[in-house]
Amino acid sequence: MSSTRVLVLNSGSSSVKYQLLDMRDGSRLAVGLVERIGEETSRLKHTPLATGESREWTGPMADHEAALKAVSEELARDGLGLDSPELAAIGHRVVHGGKLFTEPTVIDDAVLAEIERLIPVAPLHNPANLTGIRTAQALRPDLPQVAVFDTAFHTTMPESAARYAIDVKTADEHRIRRYGFHGTSHAYVSRATAKLLGKDPSEVNVIVLHLGNGASASAVEGGRCVDTSMGLTPLEGLVMGTRSGDMDPAVIFHLMRVGGMSTDEIDNLLNKKSGLIGLCGDNDMREIRRRIDEGDEQAKLAFDIYIHRLKKYIGAYYAVLGRVDAVAFTAGVGENASPVREAAVAGLEALGLAVDSELNAVRSDEPRLISPESARVAVAVVPTDEELEIATQTYALVNDSRNLT
Ligand code: AMP
Repeated sequence: MSSTRVLVLNSGSSSVKYQLLDMRDGSRLAVGLVERIGEETSRLKHTPLATGESREWTGPMADHEAALKAVSEELARDGLGLDSPELAAIGHRVVHGGKLFTEPTVIDDAVLAEIERLIPVAPLHNPANLTGIRTAQALRPDLPQVAVFDTAFHTTMPESAARYAIDVKTADEHRIRRYGFHGTSHAYVSRATAKLLGKDPSEVNVIVLHLGNGASASAVEGGRCVDTSMGLTPLEGLVMGTRSGDMDPAVIFHLMRVGGMSTDEIDNLLNKKSGLIGLCGDNDMREIRRRIDEGDEQAKLAFDIYIHRLKKYIGAYYAVLGRVDAVAFTAGVGENASPVREAAVAGLEALGLAVDSELNAVRSDEPRLISPESARVAVAVVPTDEELEIATQTYALVNDSRNLT
């Protein structure tokens, strides 16, 4: 029997998201989520796509091992168990791959050690990713496990974009540089945008705007990332749901010296209590738009700050690329919030950018153009699919190595 299935695991500190895909056509066989791992009220939601009928379970789940065992049991109930010979590999989302991992990588002890070594630059994410990998390895020690890194797509950035202008020795000693994140999404969306334009990725320059609760922009030249807005950590760049994005670093010294705040308090402030939620108390763009429609000034200001930053990045990446063929909006806000797309592009006609309001109002799950036919630069909405990208990269790698042996 040929092995054509890939299980994609995205392990967070207290959650595991998973999808089982059939790589003959990239279709989903099952999707699910375990939340609140380690609590009394852990919750598993599992949906086999054959029936589309979700099953939910709530109860104590001590750790990731218990969570993955429960997932494995749910899959087995649908005849999709992890022991199936049809399972070709498990693909893991790994947030930080540093400079070394430029490609998806079959996981061995040396790879695990390197992911572990990167924990100081990804203290929230890499430990959870490691736990997910180790648990999956224990369940299927014979199966190839592949790490697909959020940072990999950005490793093509030139040093001029990747380095901060700080003392080189200090930077190198602490591995301080701009790594970028959401790379799997930027890779997928930039390629899908080229396809939408009927071109090869090597022929087009795209500005990708991944606007979800976390948000990042990237400048992609002929299929290669040349700049991105997130940096050492996912805190830099755009205004996000709860993160500040760009800011004068001296704000931090000021908060320490004058505000008497600790490092952890500032970390929490900038990562969890800033961005849209810090500006207006809401981080959901739907709620912010609703408040604006009711005349709420605070929500309007938060929206304006969000758009101002976005526009600055569009302009900056236009300059970095020199020639832009398309601007692609993706992720929760980018795919759904037409007012964000309209406002981000408003006034940029001189750059060849415009949005057709009728096309912009269309709701669809398909990649689509929203710019007028006459526009010099295509503006597109391209739904992202990180799980499919992880599965595709995992499957390609496993097949390649099989062919080599
Ligand atoms: P993501 O992180 O990609 O899942 O995006 C989540 C965010 O997308 C939410 O916090 C909302 O701000 C936004 N979002 C989701 N659906 C909509 C919608 N229909 N209209 C506007 N914003 C949306």
